[in-house]
Amino acid sequence: MKKIPFLLIIPITMAVSCMTDKQTDKNPFFGEYNTPYDIPPFERIENEHYLPAIKEGIKQQLEEIDAIVQNPEEPSFENTILELDKSGEFLNRTTNVFFNLNSANSDEDMRELAKEIGPMISEHKDNILLNQGLFERVKAVYDARKNAGTDGGPGYSPAQMHAIEKHYDRFVRNGANLSAEDQEILRKINSQLSSLQIAFGQNLLEETNKNFKLIIDQKEDLAGLPDAVIAGAAETAVENGLEGKWVFTLQKPSMIPFLQYAENRELREKIYRGYFMRGNNQDNFDNKEILKQIAELRAEKAKLFGHETHAHYVIGQNMAKTPENVNSFLERLWEPALKMAKNEVKEMQAIIDAEGGEFELASWDWWYYAEKLRKQKYDLDEAQLKPYFKLENVRDGMFWVAKNLYGIELKKLNNVPMYHPDVEAYEVVEEDGKHVGVLYLDYHPRESKRVGAWCTGYREATYKDGKLVPPVISIVCNFTKPTEQIPSLLTWDEVTTLFHEFGHALHFLFVDGKYNLTAGNVPRDYVELPSQIMENFAAEPQVLKYYGKHYETGETISDELIEKIQKSGHFNQGFITGEYLAAAFLDLAYHNLKAGETIEDVLTFEDDAMSEIGLIEEIIPRYRSTYFNHIFSGEYYSAGYYVYIWAAVLDADAFEYFKQSGDIFNKELAAKFRENCLAKSGDMEGMEAYRLFRGQEPEVAPLLNRRGLNN
Ligand SMILES: [Zn+2]
Repeated sequence: MKKIPFLLIIPITMAVSCMTDKQTDKNPFFGEYNTPYDIPPFERIENEHYLPAIKEGIKQQLEEIDAIVQNPEEPSFENTILELDKSGEFLNRTTNVFFNLNSANSDEDMRELAKEIGPMISEHKDNILLNQGLFERVKAVYDARKNAGTDGGPGYSPAQMHAIEKHYDRFVRNGANLSAEDQEILRKINSQLSSLQIAFGQNLLEETNKNFKLIIDQKEDLAGLPDAVIAGAAETAVENGLEGKWVFTLQKPSMIPFLQYAENRELREKIYRGYFMRGNNQDNFDNKEILKQIAELRAEKAKLFGHETHAHYVIGQNMAKTPENVNSFLERLWEPALKMAKNEVKEMQAIIDAEGGEFELASWDWWYYAEKLRKQKYDLDEAQLKPYFKLENVRDGMFWVAKNLYGIELKKLNNVPMYHPDVEAYEVVEEDGKHVGVLYLDYHPRESKRVGAWCTGYREATYKDGKLVPPVISIVCNFTKPTEQIPSLLTWDEVTTLFHEFGHALHFLFVDGKYNLTAGNVPRDYVELPSQIMENFAAEPQVLKYYGKHYETGETISDELIEKIQKSGHFNQGFITGEYLAAAFLDLAYHNLKAGETIEDVLTFEDDAMSEIGLIEEIIPRYRSTYFNHIFSGEYYSAGYYVYIWAAVLDADAFEYFKQSGDIFNKELAAKFRENCLAKSGDMEGMEAYRLFRGQEPEVAPLLNRRGLNN
């Protein structure tokens, strides 16, 4: 579930009645929406409405916080945690609309506005988390939490306990528990880290986009490349003022096809070297010194908070809990992946030998020979598949899966607010007709939309006056548009993306947690479980046959094509899993550094980490240190690059449970999954939620099987 990080505090009491200013009369954020399901009145919202409403929201929340701090009564769960948890409703109601529309349907003015609103909100968040009086009250409740109820009272429920700990933790991670001296050190470290991370990202951008280009002026050097790739390279040449030539860049959409198809081995090496040497060229854009400092500063910061390493600091709040757990988890996957990668090398070397090439496979050859192998073993033609994946059919298939699992129905809504004419809205209802929430689906690209696919909430499920307020959720994608002759036909990748986002949507829709900070708010190594499990259903023959109907003839997709789809999931998995795991190990190595330890030389450090796991030289980590953007240009994935495969293990294991039961739509299991892994997911530790559903901890075997790594 995607939660916007700075909106973690959602509010409750709306001081709307006191607003008398004429300015606010026409501003829809200042009044009741008076719309079906209380959906934001999109058609009535103008850009000029945001700023006044957000300023008012900030003001209101500060007043709410002040009331908590000034409360003469002893701090209690009700008068402190609950009030804090409820505060900021007015602000969230506005910012949810603003940030969601800024991604899905924005214009120049809105993007400008975002530059003003972003910093305003993060400053506001800081003001709350640095409020000493507020922290003292939260801490008082936290410190006494285990003794609550010892005088004969009931004590706290597990969900309350979890909410207390999460609220307390937010302050602590912001430095509230540190001495004034240490707070000063923290501020310095944070500001250094922030500049270093920005510099890392900027260098990488220059290195990727400007500092290297493969310029080709001899037509024969294009041998093997598909026409569309050649045409693209000619266009890039024109953009670079090199008309008549062909230019390839280090952007993956340009580089990968070159590596895949170009017969000229020297040129493949040239572009791949350009790619893997980024940030490592001993010039102004070199990232080695920067990342070394980042890793060392993070270790200092972790120590300040009383943690052994940055990895302990980060992973401590995840489902995995400790770096040791992550490490042993990665190792269980590593061995089979490496074994498979070595097999793949052999298979490719056989092709090289058969073609009479007198050389050994090198890292820059991998894509080229893997492509030949793919044709031999797995040939799956996208053009053959697409006619079976008409968007509307895929959508209905996904609704059908949800109905089979959870009994819910999705009913098309007309006459509700729409932020764009291309968008669809559905009411989600339980089997007994009870309203669950509203789901918007926004499929196609347009200029006002950012790229990618995501799921978000205009209103997340929240409790108000003891009653659950149903959510308003939205899925936004960038799928191929229909034309007058041809409907929108999805690629296999787009099919699984739609199911994936729908999984996030179901999580949002089913959340049933009493406290805003914790409801549906799961650790980052858990977030992709609800989404990825749905991808499994998309590929099941039973489901494929339901939605895979030829758009012209209505004919059902053949068993042969279904088999090809399933088999193609095994292609190149030694490499894909191997290069990913190598990067995950590298991430952990940097963040296992202790305060005071230094990195002598970045390249040696990387080499050591890679020889420790026995990485073969035909593969380099998916990201080498000097261009490991995920972990060095920001904090979010530091000591957390492993989360993608952690979630993959979870979803494969969870789906296996359904399969083993003999019915992929097993209603009993679905109910357990909904209750523990979706509805109450934020009320407890991730592993506990999973165990309640599964009866045991996840195993890696189902993922290994799915990727064909268990042979
Ligand atoms: Zn996702």
